[in-house]
Amino acid sequence: MSVYDRLGVPTLINAKGTATRLSGGRMRDEVTEAMADAARHCVDMADLQAAASREIAAITGAEAGYVAAGASACLLLAAAACLAGLDVARMARLPDARGMPNEIVMVRSQRNGYDHAIRAAGATIVEVGLPDRHAGSGVRDAEVWEIEAALCEATAAIFYVADANALPDLPLVTALASRHNVPVIVDAAAQLPPQANLRRFVAEGADLVAFSGGKVIGGPQASGFLCGRRDLVMSAALQHLDLDVFEDMWRPPSTLIDRSRMKGVPPHGIGRSAKVGKEEIVGLLTALRLFVEEGDAVRHARWLELLRNIQAGLAGTAGFSVRIEGAEDRTCVPTLVLAPADPQCRVEAFINALIDGRPSIHVDASRRAQNLIVINPLCLRDADIPPIVDALTARVPVDDGWLS
Ligand SMILES: *Cc1c(COP(=O)(O)O)cnc(C)c1O
Repeated sequence: MSVYDRLGVPTLINAKGTATRLSGGRMRDEVTEAMADAARHCVDMADLQAAASREIAAITGAEAGYVAAGASACLLLAAAACLAGLDVARMARLPDARGMPNEIVMVRSQRNGYDHAIRAAGATIVEVGLPDRHAGSGVRDAEVWEIEAALCEATAAIFYVADANALPDLPLVTALASRHNVPVIVDAAAQLPPQANLRRFVAEGADLVAFSGGKVIGGPQASGFLCGRRDLVMSAALQHLDLDVFEDMWRPPSTLIDRSRMKGVPPHGIGRSAKVGKEEIVGLLTALRLFVEEGDAVRHARWLELLRNIQAGLAGTAGFSVRIEGAEDRTCVPTLVLAPADPQCRVEAFINALIDGRPSIHVDASRRAQNLIVINPLCLRDADIPPIVDALTARVPVDDGWLS
């Protein structure tokens, strides 16, 4: 009997990818075993974060790294680090950011629901650029001069959401930022694969980069990490670690926290509410090591095989025409794309029927407006294939509906 049976919570088949609302992915046994091992012992959390910093630095090429409860938690810490620096009084005051540089400049087209994390630290987002895509006149997005025009005494950082379509290109933004001595925070939560992106944004001059641990890396759902400049990581650590300790009893590892640079010991910081456990830190580091060892090519072949097996199971059935996208591109997550054989039949009803079925199957519905169903292999295992094939062949398009 699984823990979910005991709780009366049905498990589901996740063909959508590592969505948080669907509980993310499934971890490898090596990861869950490392987490169980971690749970059996006690450690000083600063020592564990110093070890995490060393491992993340080696993998990303950054000076330092830090683990928190998700990429979003990391963004909160990154913003707090850029607001307070190593000023203990400022750390203590956040999210009240009055009297310190407190503006974080961001391209308007990059605004998204996760930028709550930046605002939660106390920063005010200053938007630039007009993503003029609907009036018919917009061929450009924000430009470097627009970001530059927004920089002033009050600027604490530039926030950049990395994406294949993000403009202006990051190296142009980091070059501008370094001329003005302003740090650049990069949200790279979902920018894997390709694996090379683990190093790319740091190499392109970002000061702090946030990755999600619970997405393609395959770590705990409530984990993520920062990599970047040592002094900013130190500030993030000081605003995240539990610091309820007498000063003479505090022995932080010097590789993470350089006490000679501080005027005192800060109290609990704004990041305290984004705390992470030793189990998540160990799980993330284990998953990250396995992710790097597997490599893009083997990972891509594993995903492709799952999709080809579904495709083979659907061969000869009438409901959909099926194709694989991204089969040749090892730097992407390939997907299986299904179009109803009868274009009068809309996929929305079919997608909802899959959710309501037993087992419940969640597909990627992001292209339903184009009448396409997308199957993402990230969270699938071999045992999921027969029920997916059964569900996809259980209804056939007839006129403008689905007949089961
Ligand atoms: C997923 C995501 C996040 C949040 O990551 P978590 O690890 O779930 O906190 C932030 N930003 C972007 C762009 C994302 O895709």
